[in-house]
Amino acid sequence: MDLPNWASDDVDIEHASPARVYDYYLGGSHNFTVDRQMARQAIGLWPELPLIMQANRAFLRRSVRYLVAQGITQFLDIGSGIPTEGSVHQVAQVASPECRVVYVDIDPVAVAHSRDILTGNDRADAIQADMRDVAGVFDDPRTRRLLDLSQPIGLLMIAMLHFVTDESDPANFVAEYRKMLAPGSYISLSHATHEGRPDQAGSHTELYRRAGAPLTMRSRAEVAELLTGFDLVPPGIVFLPLWRPDSPADVDDHPERFTGFAAVGRYE
Ligand code: SAM
Repeated sequence: MDLPNWASDDVDIEHASPARVYDYYLGGSHNFTVDRQMARQAIGLWPELPLIMQANRAFLRRSVRYLVAQGITQFLDIGSGIPTEGSVHQVAQVASPECRVVYVDIDPVAVAHSRDILTGNDRADAIQADMRDVAGVFDDPRTRRLLDLSQPIGLLMIAMLHFVTDESDPANFVAEYRKMLAPGSYISLSHATHEGRPDQAGSHTELYRRAGAPLTMRSRAEVAELLTGFDLVPPGIVFLPLWRPDSPADVDDHPERFTGFAAVGRYE
C-alpha cells in the first residue's frame, strides 16, 4: 500500500496503533486499514466507544480551560495523539494567546500530523518520545525552547497511562515527571477503568492485547496512587462527565458508562 503524503516511511501500517485507532473513534482520517479493522471490531463489541472518546476530549478541553484560569500558560501534553479540533494549543491559546504547548507522543503519525498543523505557530511544537524516557522528553531542544521549568506548568496525561503496563510501573514515571515540576504546577489525567462497565472491560482489553498494544484498565484506588504527591482539585477522581461539567445538562443519569476516570491535581 502506498503511504499518503502525511505519513513518513517509518510508519508501521501492519499493526494497529492506539493513536490511529483513537483517531478513527473520533472520526479522523489519519488511520489505516489495520486500525479501522480493529476500531470497528471494538465498536462492534462496545458501540458506545466513540461517545466515551468524545467525553474524554471534552474533559481535556474543560481541564485545559480550568488550568489557564488558574494562571497556567505552559503545557506538556504527554501521549497527545493525533490532533483533532479542540486540541490543547487551540483551547489554551484562545483562552490566553501567550500559552505555550509541547506535544509528546510515541507514534510517528501523531507527531508528523501535529507538526504539520503547528506550522507557523511558534508557541507550540511536537516531539516523538516514549514517556518513559523522562530525560529525553525534558532535554529535547523543542521542550527546552518552549517550557520554562522554573515556572508552573500543566502536565497532561490524558487517556494515555492505561498504555503503560504495571510492569513498567506508571506511578514511578508520574513521580519522575512530578520531580521536574515547579510548585504550583498541575497534572490533568484521565484513565480507562473497568469500574464503570465491568461487563465490557474484558473483551476490550483482550482486543488491545491481541493487537500488541496492551491496555490496563485501573481502579479508582490505582488511579489515586498514580496521583500521589498531587493535591486533588474538587471534585477529585470522578467519571469523565462529572469533572466540572460546563452545565448539569451535560451529565446524563449514568456517567459511569463513560468508563474513564478524570482528575486534576496541584503540586505544591
Ligand atoms: N491524549 C489524547 C487525548 O486524550 O485525546 C490522545 C489519547 S490516545 C487514546 C493515547 C495516546 O498515547 C496515543 O497517541 C499513543 O500513541 C500515546 N502513547 C501510548 N504509549 C505512549 C508512551 N509510552 N509514550 C508516549 N505516548 C504514548
